[in-house]
Amino acid sequence: MSDIIQLLPDHVANQIAAGEVVQRPASVVKELLENAIDAGATDIKLLIKEAGKILIQVIDNGKGMSVTDARMCFERHATSKIRKAEDLFSLHTKGFRGEALASIAAIAHVELKTKQEDQELGTSIKIEGSKIVSQGFINTATGTSIAVKNLFYNIPARRKFLKSDTIETRHIIDEFQRVVLAHPGISFLLHHNDIEVYNLKSSNFRKRIVAVFGSKMNEKLVPIEEQTDIVAITGFVTKPSFSKKKRGEQFFFVNDRFIKNSYLNHAVVSAFEGLLETGSHPSYFLYLQVPANTIDINIHPTKTEIEFDNANALYAMLRATIKHSLGQYNVAPILDFNR
Ligand code: ADP
Ligand code: MG
Repeated sequence: MSDIIQLLPDHVANQIAAGEVVQRPASVVKELLENAIDAGATDIKLLIKEAGKILIQVIDNGKGMSVTDARMCFERHATSKIRKAEDLFSLHTKGFRGEALASIAAIAHVELKTKQEDQELGTSIKIEGSKIVSQGFINTATGTSIAVKNLFYNIPARRKFLKSDTIETRHIIDEFQRVVLAHPGISFLLHHNDIEVYNLKSSNFRKRIVAVFGSKMNEKLVPIEEQTDIVAITGFVTKPSFSKKKRGEQFFFVNDRFIKNSYLNHAVVSAFEGLLETGSHPSYFLYLQVPANTIDINIHPTKTEIEFDNANALYAMLRATIKHSLGQYNVAPILDFNR
């Protein structure tokens, strides 16, 4: 009997991993923006061509990479963010799997330019289908630029099944909005086909929400604030009178990370009980800070779903706080005792 099991070559393993990490251009946008934030950037530019099918480029002024790290970052499970299993329970970065760049490099043409502050010259690397095709030294600013071109060039089936430019652009803008709302202190720029879509200066939560969704948003916001041992809640809900027929803008951020959570969504919506017309939805922008060791981010590759140790307590607190704030803002219905 002969042995038949073999390890997959790296570039094949990378392509398979890419299927999980990179569903569409917007997935690349998310990973690159998060890496820029993890690198401590205060200024981040996102340049897109043709809905990300031709180009997705992120330029940051973060800490950059050494010559060796510039090669290493494209290896699978290569990360500077965790070292041991315990680190998973106290994550302070967006990334930790060390999979994104390896996956992206397996299915696109990638050009990296990066320089650390104390380096005279930066490093440039071109990589195609997981293989480095050129490497050199260049004059470049401190920080990192990663250009991802021709996504899925070597997986025609995936490329063919990308949606229209309108839809893929919508997904990119959704990701961009989630990131910029979570990080109002960072300046962001978004250009699509050389046209400026967003130019956001460093700011606070309220101003960032208004900058993203338009000046009309300002009068609609009711502030939410609560601090307990297990959570600090800040943010805004929209006044019930401004609720929308279609699902409004609904955002949860937990420890600066956008998440989806239907249970907490229910807590918010139920706080509006009796205040909304049937079939209308409030918008909300809620920032929860919880101790890093009370959540588990490891359950989903795109990390938009997390698990809370204290889900029930969070539900109750969120609901009570929003109810209270809505009442304070005099937006609860006024009972008419004369009838
Ligand atoms: P992860 O973010 O999970 O660590 P990635 O594949 O996204 O994995 O990135 C691999 C590594 O490359 C990171 O851990 C980081 O050290 C480095 N890196 C990636 N992007 C940047 C960047 N914009 N600036 C500095 N270092 C970066
Ligand atoms: Mg990453």
